[in-house]
Amino acid sequence: MKLVMLGSGGFVPTEQAQTACYFLPEYNILLDGGTGLYRIHNYMQQARALDVYLSHTHGDHTTGLHYLFGSYFKKLANDATDRPVDISFIEDHSRQANQLLNSTRIHVTERMLANLKDQYPWPLDWRILESVEALPGGGTLRYFAFDPAREEVGFRLEWPGHSLAYITDTIASPQATYIDQIAGVDLLLHDCNLTDEKAQLCQTINHSSTSAVAQVAARAGVKRLCLIHFNPMGWDVADDLPAARKIFPVTEIGHDGMEIEF
Ligand SMILES: [Zn+2]
Repeated sequence: MKLVMLGSGGFVPTEQAQTACYFLPEYNILLDGGTGLYRIHNYMQQARALDVYLSHTHGDHTTGLHYLFGSYFKKLANDATDRPVDISFIEDHSRQANQLLNSTRIHVTERMLANLKDQYPWPLDWRILESVEALPGGGTLRYFAFDPAREEVGFRLEWPGHSLAYITDTIASPQATYIDQIAGVDLLLHDCNLTDEKAQLCQTINHSSTSAVAQVAARAGVKRLCLIHFNPMGWDVADDLPAARKIFPVTEIGHDGMEIEF
């Protein structure tokens, strides 16, 4: 199964990294809708309505929802190579893109819905997350809160022979409550917003530092760790990679456009 990193950054986009957006083309599933969403038409197998699962409502995870109409339009138009670009071309594809937009299922908690719904003036198919969501292909998605006082949630997606956990905007530590929830996954995508040198800032800005993330991966017994959600200030977690790999050898650094088979 393939995961495409449409946006690997956090907070605001940079020349190197758009913000949080991760796509599973096979099942048309999107994890978060940050600015990287604008690239999705390049990877969609067919023009059909997405299932979008949001980890929380911060702008770096949701701004790209404004690009859904344009992304559907581009996919439809790019696939219609046999048609002349005239008024009916524009009208037909606009109508179809609107139908797809209005059918897009945005999966959120009640709390996220209250924060988000009025920000989008067009109809979307808002869905409240079930404790176990059925996914196409016989898969499941489970979500879990990191801290009951906050809205961020993590996800575990599982199909026979393939599993993935997505953890962002939280503080990694060997005592993290979500370690059991992500145990043994094939691929862990984990926030790594801070270098080890700046680890003391984690509690203040609710993010993770490199070696602490490697400790989480080791304790959870995952097969592979990919670091994501980098800080746009240019603090380079690559400097910490040797230290992280001493703790958890199969650690790599994500980047925009990265495609991971898991
Ligand atoms: Zn974020």
